[in-house]
Amino acid sequence: MINKNDQFEIYITDLSDEGAGIGKTDGFTWFVKDAVIGDHILAAATKVKKNYGFARLVKVIEPSASRTTPACPLARSCGGCQLQQLEYDSQLKFKESKVLNDLKRIGGFTDAGAFFEPIIGMQQPFRYRNKAVYPIGRNKEGRIIAGFYAGRTHSIIACEDCLLGFEENRIVLSTIIKFMGDNDIEPYNENTGSGVVRHVLIRKGLHTGELMVCIVINAGKLKNADVLCGRLREMLPSLKSFTLSVNRERTNVIMGTRIINVYGPGYIEDLIHDRDGSQVRFRISPLSFFQVNSEQMEKLYGTALEFAGLTGNERVWDLYCGVGTISLFLARHAKKVYGVEIIPEAIDNARENAELNSIDNAEFFVGKAEEVLPEWYSKEYRKTGEKIDVIVVDPPRKGCDENCLKTMVSIAPKRIVYVSCDPATLARDLKYLCSEGYRIETVRPVDMFPQTVHVETVCLLSKLKSTQHIEVELDMDELDLTDAEKKATYQEIKDYVLEHTGLKVSSLYIAQVKQKCGIIERENYNKPKSEDAKQPQCPPDKEKAIKEALKHFGMI
Ligand code: SAH
Repeated sequence: MINKNDQFEIYITDLSDEGAGIGKTDGFTWFVKDAVIGDHILAAATKVKKNYGFARLVKVIEPSASRTTPACPLARSCGGCQLQQLEYDSQLKFKESKVLNDLKRIGGFTDAGAFFEPIIGMQQPFRYRNKAVYPIGRNKEGRIIAGFYAGRTHSIIACEDCLLGFEENRIVLSTIIKFMGDNDIEPYNENTGSGVVRHVLIRKGLHTGELMVCIVINAGKLKNADVLCGRLREMLPSLKSFTLSVNRERTNVIMGTRIINVYGPGYIEDLIHDRDGSQVRFRISPLSFFQVNSEQMEKLYGTALEFAGLTGNERVWDLYCGVGTISLFLARHAKKVYGVEIIPEAIDNARENAELNSIDNAEFFVGKAEEVLPEWYSKEYRKTGEKIDVIVVDPPRKGCDENCLKTMVSIAPKRIVYVSCDPATLARDLKYLCSEGYRIETVRPVDMFPQTVHVETVCLLSKLKSTQHIEVELDMDELDLTDAEKKATYQEIKDYVLEHTGLKVSSLYIAQVKQKCGIIERENYNKPKSEDAKQPQCPPDKEKAIKEALKHFGMI
């Protein structure tokens, strides 16, 4: 029996979704932060529950082959990077299996490996964040510092150069801290509610190089703000916007709603490159939502665009569209794009961004996706019968509302592209869509947040046609098999063919070949449901490959 504070040796055999090492002692499960799969460690129990406990890493006795020294000396105390001690390749594997496991466990897609593509990682998995927010305070010695809150506390640990952020951040912060000292400006004190400077927000356009600084203040103005602006511009000629955000509330919310413009237009601009080398330009203000990893964002949106399969004639909905980034990206390849977003200011930005790029085939609605879409469906869709070819969704972590999913199914687009920041809710929503006539074609994760446990996933679903419904029925009918058939499942045959020839074959083709070879006698399976429905016939190369597989499994 291990009690709180007891030290014990343990082998780490798995990683939790939150990135903690998992190991067992006599069937009792332990979660150990900062430990990685393959480590043999000395741990100290911090909390003991009935069937599991939490422990702290005391010492690595024998490191895992995938363990690495964190690049940031503060990685452990910060907690923002849960995976820095794991080599980047292993981080990517961890994220792939997280998505795959959720698809299998929550979505019930036991064959998820068949449509799963490798994660898109980064060449340089540091210094990718285009946005940084640093709290400002005083340390124990009374010095003004910028840094981060130590895990679950509100005491600030000094760190002016987070390795996920750009190098300019350090210069901005040290300039502001020196200025505060020179001008007797107090940092905000959470306990007393006194002091002025609360947070510093820094944003940078990856492609334009434009820099934005916004200081959140607990006051109506900042003394000598113009002097500070002069110093910042001198240090950083790329500074394009300097603003103050007024937040006088005693809350954890960082930004205030009122913005005071000190220098520049109040926004910076950045570009997102399209696959054809052209680009879409975006305005980013202190309050706008913009993906924090610009480099990976292009890969994420590029994947969404690829999956949408646009030729220029399609009508598309982009649900949860934010400032219209995906919508505008799609609009250049579609006939019409409708975007929906709950935050009115984001829609203002989306409309401005459309104008900035001379895009006039994108229309935006403010509201909840689960309300706007059903309303449009009952009024417009029924009236005009306007077909929708593709629906793209990019919901927050909780996934799509069921009412939204239901309406999507009623609208029945040929393709649904689901961009997700939470594999668990993705799997849940995919399960629903697949029970309502959709099939998963491809799942491709993108690593938007290296060093952390978060993973973004793009999934393409296509609407089943009548012939494909027959395929599904074929899969179901594996229960009623002839002896020869029992030797391998449709999935095993598909996997064998893919592995040996690189060809993807459908259950329908396999059934056709089986029938030709006399394995299936039930001829009705191979017939379309309605007489006039056309059924694709297995091409000769695939027939040959399937026959090879049938031979391999001893079925013929
Ligand atoms: N597609 C955008 C934003 C994705 S983040 C991009 O890539 O930049 C998810 C967005 O959904 C946020 O902007 C959030 O404000 C919005 N949102 C949250 N709940 C919503 C709802 N019920 N209906 C519509 N939008 C919602």
